[in-house]
Amino acid sequence: MDTSVIWNNFLEKIKDRLSPLSYDLWFKETYLYSMDNSTVTIIVPSKLHITHLDDNYKDDIVEIFSLLTGNNYNFVFKLKEDLEQTVDDSTFLIKDVSNNIHQNSISANLNSDYTFENFVVGDSNKFAFTASRAVAERPGKAYNPLFLYGKSGLGKTHLMQAIGNYIIQNTNKKVLYISSDQFVNDYISAVRSNDANNFDKIDSFKRKYRDIDVLIIDDIQFLGSATKGQEEFFHTFNELYNSNKQIIIASDRSVDDLKMLENRLLTRFNSGLTANITPPDFDLRMSIIRKKIMYQESASDIPDNVIEYIANNFASDVRQLSGAITRVFAYSLMMNKGIINLDIAIEALKDQLHDKGVYKNDIHRIQRIVCDYFKIEIEDIKGKKRSKNINYPRQIAIYLCRTLTTESFPKIGTYFGGRDHSTIISSYKKISNELKKNNQLQTVIEELKQSI
Ligand code: ADP
Ligand code: MG
Repeated sequence: MDTSVIWNNFLEKIKDRLSPLSYDLWFKETYLYSMDNSTVTIIVPSKLHITHLDDNYKDDIVEIFSLLTGNNYNFVFKLKEDLEQTVDDSTFLIKDVSNNIHQNSISANLNSDYTFENFVVGDSNKFAFTASRAVAERPGKAYNPLFLYGKSGLGKTHLMQAIGNYIIQNTNKKVLYISSDQFVNDYISAVRSNDANNFDKIDSFKRKYRDIDVLIIDDIQFLGSATKGQEEFFHTFNELYNSNKQIIIASDRSVDDLKMLENRLLTRFNSGLTANITPPDFDLRMSIIRKKIMYQESASDIPDNVIEYIANNFASDVRQLSGAITRVFAYSLMMNKGIINLDIAIEALKDQLHDKGVYKNDIHRIQRIVCDYFKIEIEDIKGKKRSKNINYPRQIAIYLCRTLTTESFPKIGTYFGGRDHSTIISSYKKISNELKKNNQLQTVIEELKQSI
């Protein structure tokens, strides 16, 4: 049988055993490179895959292959670029669940809501997610230290706590999560109270931070420059690192940009794996919103255009995105019997969007500016009123939306109280025609364009 046929049959079978996410992450980009009497060589896209497949899926792979071919093979995973080199990856499982005394999340200082299951994966965070999974499954063995970085609100704390939660649930390893400023404060207060009556304060500080298996240290940019705190962290790091304890660090900037930290520390950060998280793209924002609203009772009643509206307007980070969703729910409960539609969402979020004023050419922004100009209410422009003092500004706003944004007529219609696209087209045409002969209108449009 052709190896590619075998591989495709294999993929079909393994797919049935895995969640779609696991399948995509670990198998989608793999292929069978060669096969002899005893050994099957599989090409994988990253080093993470080598250890992860070996540790977690080897039994499944062996079993499915024996079903398909009637033979038992050895499996070797390789990177494409490493084909010439032999891989001898005698890995061993470290899941030590022989005694079931699990540490709880409180003593580890973890929020148990931050799990891998609750984390939505997309292009911008896939690498960080995969690396975090690998570290969670083999703490101290896979990548040490793991250094996650990215702007605020992109999920660093969530991911690193997910690692911690996974480890305390699956092993009896001791985990401690702390932010770097808490660490420093803790140290300073130990030093201060370490007087004649309290010799042991520094000792107990040291024990707290060195008698653990996994140290998760958040927001390392707050460690402070050239301080005793930094010095102490350096020693803690070394001690843990040298005894193969896992260290996970998060930062709002890359290692190279952590200028306030000493070089010797940065060198250590760079010696493990660094993973960047970038802002979510539109698709990921949509999936995150869908995941977050899944837990709401009325989730199924939320129209797609509301989800799109939020995804379009809260593009920079996930924290804001979550805040926007909560606001829409709360607002609809207070103002609209819990019914959510686009108008309610726009109303609920207008302050956030208006204040920022960065949504150049956004339909909502154009509507506000036109309304302010004509001293009418947003409700009116979206509403049914057809009196001239409302209808005319409405047509002007529609015209401006069409000329200044890339939105389609139907899309613009949804922002104007769900008007049909033919109504939007005729408003647009009416203003376009009138503009050719009406000087006063030309001035108005010019002024509005200026403020938009
Ligand atoms: P950071 O530490 O990078 O500033 P957080 O981890 O605190 O960001 O994330 C901010 C909020 O957004 C948290 O509530 C977190 O659960 C949520 N969040 C971030 N990324 C995701 C994601 N990919 N899927 C689900 N929730 C996310
Ligand atoms: Mg954080």
